[in-house]
Amino acid sequence: MTALDTLNRPLRDLRISVTDRCNFRCTYCMPKEVFGNRYRFLDRKELLTFEEIERVARVAIGLGVEKLRITGGEPLVRRDLELLIALLAPLGAELTLTTNASLLAAKARALAEAGLNRITVSLDSLDDATFRAMNDVDFPVDRVLEGIEAAAAVGLPVKVNAVVKRGLNDEGIVEMARYFRDAGHTLRFIEYMDVGATNGWRIDEVVPAAEIVRRIGEVFPLEPAEASYRGEVAQRWRYTDGSGEIGVIASVTQPFCGDCTRARVSAEGRLYTCLFGLRGHDLRALIRGGAPDEELQAELAAIWRRRADRYSERRTEQTAALPKVEMSYIGG
Ligand code: SAM
Repeated sequence: MTALDTLNRPLRDLRISVTDRCNFRCTYCMPKEVFGNRYRFLDRKELLTFEEIERVARVAIGLGVEKLRITGGEPLVRRDLELLIALLAPLGAELTLTTNASLLAAKARALAEAGLNRITVSLDSLDDATFRAMNDVDFPVDRVLEGIEAAAAVGLPVKVNAVVKRGLNDEGIVEMARYFRDAGHTLRFIEYMDVGATNGWRIDEVVPAAEIVRRIGEVFPLEPAEASYRGEVAQRWRYTDGSGEIGVIASVTQPFCGDCTRARVSAEGRLYTCLFGLRGHDLRALIRGGAPDEELQAELAAIWRRRADRYSERRTEQTAALPKVEMSYIGG
């Protein structure tokens, strides 16, 4: 069964957050002043169990989902995450994980053996001082690079995502392009977005994707590459010398709501049909209330069919100030 929303968009991707906790305090995502000692994170019993997550994923696959992405918070801080991967892998959807890679070196083999297909690592700078300042827990960049290489060594294809914020890490984009071209991993740059309400987003801190492409292209000539599938969020650019490609995700300057096929489930089982949503739909109440799979699927389908979200196409300086779900809660 395929569910289409009010704008004819199918449900194809499900992003599942497994925790709202993270061991980083990236200044643009989980600033220390907000996510400090007094912040109330979810209790363990509030989180969907691995079995509950498997149910949601299976039901969503029944509605046309082809890709599952595990995210957080930092998903690798959830204990025994490989057990969840082992539960999800047999469902047959493409299975990926987004991580800051701080704990990846020790986990890569178990994740690959459990059936993970790919991994996306978030890394915003190769400059150690800049990186430590951005993660705000003084975490060294070398350990992230070790995590990336550990994943590659066990056969997991790696993509690296870098959020670019003007004045913070944009001086390093050419260096990042150079490093990951040589390492053979696909690098994607993401425009800094007005997610959540805690990062004090300003439009002049967004480095437009077109500028990123221009700045890299001046050093390593680039040409546009075709999108590989409907709904691909990254615009792909390949090096004209055949040495690989980069991607840019222009969520702010060139929004792609028309092709958005993503739903997100928070760690406590709330379903969001837009990254910029405020309230989710409580799937956990249904599950813990004893609803059978058919009821869960009917509810999911009904939520999706009502969906009309296209926040990024309506974004203005005013909408940026509206209350929205936090990225660390919903996982990006
Ligand atoms: N901890 C995992 C990680 O680091 O990939 C998963 C969760 S993290 C919230 C997912 C992604 O969201 C990261 O790549 C992070 O850089 C990105 N992100 C957070 N806030 C953002 C913002 N305001 N604009 C763009 N990307 C953002």
